[in-house]
Amino acid sequence: KLASCDQKRTRSTTTSSATSSTHREVVFSGIQPTGVPHLGNYLGALKQWVDIQNTASPDTTLLYCIVDLHAITQPQDPDDLRRRRKDTMAMLLAIGLKPERCVIFEQSRVPAHAELMWILNTLTPTNLLARQAQWKSKLAASEERSPLDPDGSSKLKLGLFSYPVLQAADILLYKTTVVPVGEDQVQHLELAGDLAGKFNRTFGNILRVPKIQLAPAKRVMSLNNPASKMSKSGPAKSQINLDQSEKEIRQIIKVALTDSITGISYDREARPGVSNLVEILGHMTNRSDFEAIAAECEGLSMKQFKDRVADSIEEGLKGIRSEYGRIKQEGDGYLEEISRQGAEMANEMANETLEWDKKASKLHEK
Ligand code: ATP
Repeated sequence: KLASCDQKRTRSTTTSSATSSTHREVVFSGIQPTGVPHLGNYLGALKQWVDIQNTASPDTTLLYCIVDLHAITQPQDPDDLRRRRKDTMAMLLAIGLKPERCVIFEQSRVPAHAELMWILNTLTPTNLLARQAQWKSKLAASEERSPLDPDGSSKLKLGLFSYPVLQAADILLYKTTVVPVGEDQVQHLELAGDLAGKFNRTFGNILRVPKIQLAPAKRVMSLNNPASKMSKSGPAKSQINLDQSEKEIRQIIKVALTDSITGISYDREARPGVSNLVEILGHMTNRSDFEAIAAECEGLSMKQFKDRVADSIEEGLKGIRSEYGRIKQEGDGYLEEISRQGAEMANEMANETLEWDKKASKLHEK
């Protein structure tokens, strides 16, 4: 259910005072609506978002953002993007985020993100952006043409290059203290910290340098190419999406790339595929003693081991899947109302910081 008016008022007071206080904790994180979230997103980020929600003190502000402006740095079909944005919102609710406790919103409904990005652009050395691993990997893949990009994707766009600056703006706008993310985002977040420092040295102490919080599942690897991370944009059967049926989960795990070595053991270098599955089994059962888990499975055949992995995934995802189905049944009006309320709260908080930033950078009078 949506927050009542009273709850909303209380939440509004809490969140707006959080931006002006230097002591309150503010948690911010985001996900791109580039597809249904997968097991890597869940274990590396989303599960932490829910754990934080369930354990944070009531005066901690929690902001979870569907970063659609980031998604359009790669060619997207507009209808698909809008549908995926709704699906992502439905999934965030299905994993257990509560709109009466968290501000859940779509980035493009809060114009301050793009405005602060522009101010940060004026402070960002381009060589720092050129060094970002994600940019370099996209550069390497840039020869592949996309049917959604009539210009040809070999012409990489400025938006993709400056993606980390927008990400810095997302975070700094809310005076965020903690950012729970997967390991692939660490380099971008370090840049956000550098930019906060540059802004503060240039214009005065306004922005906060956030702490990065990694989940135990820092990097879940692709199931058919364990050298690369599981990704929404990966090939079919490389990931398990959170809405997939038990049958699909079992089928994907059955064909996951392993090796022909007899028995189960944990060695990320020598057995990357098997070790990724051992780690998934561990994360799904809240364990991180991967060697011990592998030892318990040592005598199993690969099929028996894979069955055990699939069982653990099914056990962890079945509740989410049914909740997701139920929320989708509620229809778009329900999701739209949550997005609208989230954007209202986020705009209120973001505009407060942006006004300070504009005064500090002398764009506006003090
Ligand atoms: P895309 O394939 O469209 O680039 P993505 O799957 O990499 O998307 P994002 O939406 O960019 O996912 O990331 C959302 C969150 O999930 C981030 O905190 C990111 O660090 C985390 N994450 C993404 N992939 C993984 C993974 N394989 N293992 C652990 N965490 C991950």
